[in-house]
Amino acid sequence: MSNENSSIHDFDFDLICEYFASIDRQGPGSPEVTLKALSFVDNLTEHSRIADIGCGTGGQTMVLAQHAPGETTGIDLFPRFINLFNTNAAALNLQHRVKGIVGSMDNLPFQDEELDLIWSEGAIYNIGFERGVNEWRRFLKSGGYLAVTEASWFTDERPEEIDSFWKNAYPEIDTIAVKTAQLQKAGYVPVATFILPEECWTDHFYVQQAAVQDNFLTKYAGNATAEELVAYQRHEAELYRKYKAYYGYVFYIGRKI
Ligand code: SAM
Repeated sequence: MSNENSSIHDFDFDLICEYFASIDRQGPGSPEVTLKALSFVDNLTEHSRIADIGCGTGGQTMVLAQHAPGETTGIDLFPRFINLFNTNAAALNLQHRVKGIVGSMDNLPFQDEELDLIWSEGAIYNIGFERGVNEWRRFLKSGGYLAVTEASWFTDERPEEIDSFWKNAYPEIDTIAVKTAQLQKAGYVPVATFILPEECWTDHFYVQQAAVQDNFLTKYAGNATAEELVAYQRHEAELYRKYKAYYGYVFYIGRKI
């Protein structure tokens, strides 16, 4: 399995969870960006129901819940992340209105029109943006909001190396114009889109990983999976440094019609 051609899904999940559980968040983002996205959402009260899908250990969920009234449910596939999520919620005294549960984004445990806000940072790609925005819509009340981040191209053309990396990792990556049109077609009014600043990838993600990589490699010395995982993450960080003018994460915020 070469690093160039394998996706992260090929690696051993337990090891991946241990690696990513050791950093504050599992994808690019920042508290400032979470709050900026939240500033476009204007329907929340203490009775609101919020879901954070693919929440990981809840870095962004805790920021969200500290600034949004109502009950928040975080959902993630991996029990290890959810255990940490609930520990983090308790440490912030949010446990009475913030709960993490194990579940899958393709089989969500909500009723139709139950939710006021669906949040998802760096996770909707697991089922694909277009499928996700269409399937999750029914769980939102009319006038409810969707706020998700998604890898997007900033230009119509780009160098071959980064084009083929992303087409292999996530073929659904596309331009902001195409994603916004998909959101509208799915039955949302596009309320805002904005590009996540560079430090969401660097200081808040790759720098945090660099700080734990040597210890991880020492702990799992000789383990091919651990070595491939770190090599893949370093390669991804290097590609970002080289090609950040061409792609990044974009926040898409829509209101259900
Ligand atoms: N939202 C977190 C953040 O921004 O730090 C985590 C982002 S991480 C890149 C993607 C998350 O999606 C991981 O926590 C992963 O376990 C979760 N995930 C992957 N497939 C999933 C599925 N089918 N249902 C729910 N969560 C899933």
